[in-house]
Order: sequence, then C-alpha cells, then structure tokens
Amino acid sequence: MTKRSARNLEILDTTLRDGAQAEGVSFTVSDKIEIVKTLDAFGVKYIEAGNPGSNPKDAAFFEEAGKLKLENARLVAFGSTHRIGVRPEDDGGVHSLLSANTPCVSIFGKCWDLHVTEILKASLEENLSCVRDTLRFFKERGKEVIFDAEHFFDGYLNNPAYAVRVLEAACEGGADVLCLCDTNGGTQPLKIYEIADMLSARFPGIRLGIHCHNDTGCAVANSLLAVEAGCDHVQGTFKGIGERCGNADLSVIIPDIQLKMGLRCVSGDMEGLQKTAARVADISNMTLPGDKPYVGASAFAHKGGMHIDGVDKVSRSFEHLPPQAVGNSRRFLLSEVSGKKAVLLKTRDFAPWLSKDSPETGAILARIKELEHQGYQFEAADASFELMVRRVLGTYTPHFTVSMYKTSGEFPPHDDKLSSNAMVKVIVGRETEMAAAMGNGPVHALDQALRRAIGAFYPVLNDVYLVDYKVRVLESGQAAGSRVRVLIESTDGARRWTTVGASTDIIEASFSAIVDSLEYKLLKENI
Ligand SMILES: [Zn+2]
Repeated sequence: MTKRSARNLEILDTTLRDGAQAEGVSFTVSDKIEIVKTLDAFGVKYIEAGNPGSNPKDAAFFEEAGKLKLENARLVAFGSTHRIGVRPEDDGGVHSLLSANTPCVSIFGKCWDLHVTEILKASLEENLSCVRDTLRFFKERGKEVIFDAEHFFDGYLNNPAYAVRVLEAACEGGADVLCLCDTNGGTQPLKIYEIADMLSARFPGIRLGIHCHNDTGCAVANSLLAVEAGCDHVQGTFKGIGERCGNADLSVIIPDIQLKMGLRCVSGDMEGLQKTAARVADISNMTLPGDKPYVGASAFAHKGGMHIDGVDKVSRSFEHLPPQAVGNSRRFLLSEVSGKKAVLLKTRDFAPWLSKDSPETGAILARIKELEHQGYQFEAADASFELMVRRVLGTYTPHFTVSMYKTSGEFPPHDDKLSSNAMVKVIVGRETEMAAAMGNGPVHALDQALRRAIGAFYPVLNDVYLVDYKVRVLESGQAAGSRVRVLIESTDGARRWTTVGASTDIIEASFSAIVDSLEYKLLKENI
C-alpha cells in the first residue's frame, strides 16, 4: 500500500535542535560535533543543528562544524519566517540563519490560524506572504529549503483551507520539502494517515515530510503511517529525546522503515544501528533504556526457560529479527526461574562438560536461588556468575582472602575531599599483608587499600579500574535499613566485566563486588 512507489526516503535528525529542548539535556560544542560525526557515519542525510541566532554556543558550533568533511550528511540551520512588518533582507534572525553557512535551512512557519491571529497577532494574508518571501529569500541565495509546517495537523483540523493555503505559499516561495509537523504531539495515527494521504495527492511534485512529537505515545506509529501515505522525508531524534515527551525515535523508525517496510532511508549498514544509538546516548550523557526496541540491552534477552530452549533450537521462534541485523546481541538471562537450560548455555564456554542431568547443574541452580534470595542478581553480572559457578564446581581457588577490613569517615573531610579511611588485611598463600588508604568515600578508600595490599603480589591489577557503580535499594519499605544490591563495571582497557554484591550493608555489598572484580581479572589472566 506504500505510495509513490520509487521511494528514496531521507532522514533528518534534530537531536541537536529539538532534542536539545529535552529536560536535563545540554550539549557542549564538542558534544554537538561528536554527534554530527556519529550520525554522518551512519548515513543520515540531514542533521538539523540549531539556530545560530538563538545563542552564541550555536553560532560557535556552526563555525566549527563548517570545517568538518562530512561523507553523507548535510547540515541544516533552523529558524523562523521573518518578522511581520520587516522585509526578510532587513530581518536580523534571517541574516543570522544565513550566516550559519549551511547548504540547507529549515524554516518554520505558522499553519494554524489560531497561532497567526492570537500569537503572532498578524492577519492570515500577512502570514502567507511572510512564508512565501522568507523561503524565496533563501532559495535566491542557493539554499535547499525545508519548510517546517508548524502545528500543521491542528491547523488543518481547525481550518483546512487555510492550512493548505500556507503549504501553497511555501511552494510559491520555492520550498524543496513540505514537512508536516504534529507540534503538540496530540494527533492520532489514522488522522495523520488520512491528512498526509490527501496532501500526497494534492502536492504530487514536492517531497512531503513528517515531524512527530510523542505526547500520546504515537510518534513512531504516526511517522510510519505518514510514510505509508507518501511522506518521503522523516524527522526525529536518535533516542527519541525532545521537548515534553520527546520526538519520534529514529533508532526505532529507521529499522522499521528499512527492515520491516523494505524501503531505504539511510546509506549506512543497519549493523551499525546499535552502536550509533549507544554513542548518541553516551554523548547526551544518558543511558540507552534496556527495553528500547532493536537497540536496548534487553531487546534480544531471554529469561523464561521455555523461551531460552526455543531460541536455542530455532532463533526466530522467539525473535522477530536476528539481533546481529541491527548490531545487537542475544543474551540468556539467569534467574531462579530460567532453569537448567539457561545454566548450560551460560556455562558452555568454561564448563562444557555439564549436562542437564549433572548433579552440579542442580547445585548451581540451588546456589543461584539462595543468592537471589539474599539480593544477588546475575543477569547483568556475568563475571560474578562465572566465579560463583566455579566456586560451586570447585574449579577455582581464590587468589587472596580478606581476613579483616575497617572503614571510618569524618566530617568535615580531611584535605577538603578525602573524607574516609580504610584498612584491609589480606592473606596470599602463607603471607599476610596489611594496607591503609584514604578516599573520597568509604568504598573508594577500601578499594584503594585493597589494591595496595594485594598489588605487590599481583601487579596486573594496576590496570583494572572501575567504570560504573550502581546501587539499587531492594526493600524500599525499610528505607535506610534496606538491603542493597551493588553492580560494579570494571575494565582493564581491553575488556569490560560486571560483578555484583548484595547486603544490608552498602559497604559490604560494594566490597564483595570489588573483590569479585579483581578475582575475575586474575582468573582471566590465568594467574
Ligand atoms: Zn518539534
């Protein structure tokens, strides 16, 4: 049913403009440059990067971005139609947009009569010439022009003849793309389809675009239906960030278009999707939610025993797509409900002799059950899982034993930041070593003291450092007396691994995860 059969779709990412409006998001100039490079490498055609007239940071960005050699993307500067009562050539905003020096500009204009008369305080006719003249100004200066038809759907539902008249004025001004915006994000999918379908027939010679917000949770569905109706230009943000509830999520829309609808919209390989989404999230200082379709860590994670069994036999029995098609990977999660099959899949690299009937398999499951009861969870902690299994199997001897540790804190902090002391006593073989250290908190001080005590025996541990530390309160009813679970992610520069600890004592939980982390490194080094 897809319209305009010879389809060559294009994506405009507005993470740096609309996405920057999201609560809690703030990009530095170098963040913006990194995002441009990431999106360009993935083959996004347009990158809308802000308004040079709105703040000095955006102006500095455009100067810097102008020096980039982009492989696939065109930079787009964003701004409004000229002010009422001023000619475009005399409008400061229009000139600052021009000064961004981008090959393409997107200009937003009013399509909802309510906004023209009540917000802009202009006549309907004035607004039309404003749209026409601003676009013409940029076309005469050689720019590719995207017209962002602001509030198009609300405007159309209120006064269809006028909303369409605004699009005609944009065409008269020379617009290359008419982008229909659901600015308030409240329009429902079938309405979007109906209106876009009608416009597709009415404006056959021009590219139609779609720009959806997610205020009713329909931004992705709305964008896909607009594509079905004939829109060839799709706007959104990688990760879906944006004002209020966000913009249409390109990390979902792009694979939907390419892998489900069979149309092309980016020039890069879809195997690069997960990496691109993770990188954009990283630069935005956000985590990629686990349940994000296609790219989340849980998107291809299986936990139910029967699901695990099914996927192991025929992967498509419980997967809509092979995870590698989008650069993601399959994970089997371990829990007390996932059964022996999951244990065998997770242990086949280091204990391949185990079978469903081995008594050790039952013992491992029993141990998982016991530890989960204490608050441990091995789903995300593969390193602690391997150590736990080896402990049950007896195929592993600890490299060191901690016979004592002690921490104390003080306020105000010593030396302005070091507020804690720790002392650790370890036994390595027949030797005993004690060390003390200060830190900016008890966990930091303990980590330092432990490394100092065993560092002399195992210098390879000097390469290990902590990259993430997460604490989860497990029984929220008891507030400060609750049991906590600590997850620690470590790296030696080459690989990353995660360990877990649980206790009612946050320091003990952290310490146990730190000990596992160092033990795992020594295990992998065959020391
Ligand atoms: Zn928007």
